[in-house]
Amino acid sequence: VEAELMRAQRLESLSLLAAGLSHDLRNILQPLLIMPDLLKARSDDPQLHHLADIIAECGRRGHEMAESMLSFVRGSRKPSEHICIAHLFEAVELLLRSNLPNKVSLHLDVADDGLGVDANYTELQQVLLNLALNGIQAMPNGGRLTLRASADAGGQGEEWLRISVTDEGTGMDAETLSHLFNPFFTTKANGTGLGLISCKRIVEGANGSIHVDSTPGVGTRFDLLLPMREVPAEGEAVDAPIAAGTGQ
Ligand code: ADP
Repeated sequence: VEAELMRAQRLESLSLLAAGLSHDLRNILQPLLIMPDLLKARSDDPQLHHLADIIAECGRRGHEMAESMLSFVRGSRKPSEHICIAHLFEAVELLLRSNLPNKVSLHLDVADDGLGVDANYTELQQVLLNLALNGIQAMPNGGRLTLRASADAGGQGEEWLRISVTDEGTGMDAETLSHLFNPFFTTKANGTGLGLISCKRIVEGANGSIHVDSTPGVGTRFDLLLPMREVPAEGEAVDAPIAAGTGQ
């Protein structure tokens, strides 16, 4: 128990340190996002433009890394709300379609309008976007990306919400799969390796779990299982309490 406690305390101080660091880093990098453009506006020298672009790109990456680190350590501390999955999927579809590569086709399917869950909306949206973008990036030659939500009967009368994100991309070998949820593990030149660990944190913070099934050369499916919280049909009282769990 004592070892557990020490581990928890160490994690807590690490989180605080990382939060402070990424916050400061974000502020320090701010000028790198703006000044390269100001420099370029003052000169026609192509060499200078090229160098300024490199600086801007480094600034952008550093800024993005600080952002992901910050949201990673803040983890699942955001307030939970009743989320209607049909609405969430609409928003996710809009964002994904705005920047979808030509060769990728997007398919979203919500099995039932009553599907819902208690979680932080922005965070859950971030999880779906992370998984979807990973799927898109895994399909450089195109393919189908499918997001599907359905009800899943668990044991002991429990009901779960299952959200799956399936791609027809490169898939992953056993070695990659074994490191998948390690912070900073990435195989991408521009990756942060914080996407999946953040997804895991958020989903577990909402009392759910995340699973992966992948075959090299065929594709990958990520499954989220979350406690079901049915959404009342239009017109019904929104705040009607729903019986908790199974009998104890
Ligand atoms: P990042 O996307 O920044 O690399 P992630 O934590 O989201 O960080 O992903 C870690 C690694 O897992 C990726 O670099 C990639 O190798 C692998 N990966 C994640 N999703 C997929 C996918 N859908 N298909 C193939 N590989 C994936």
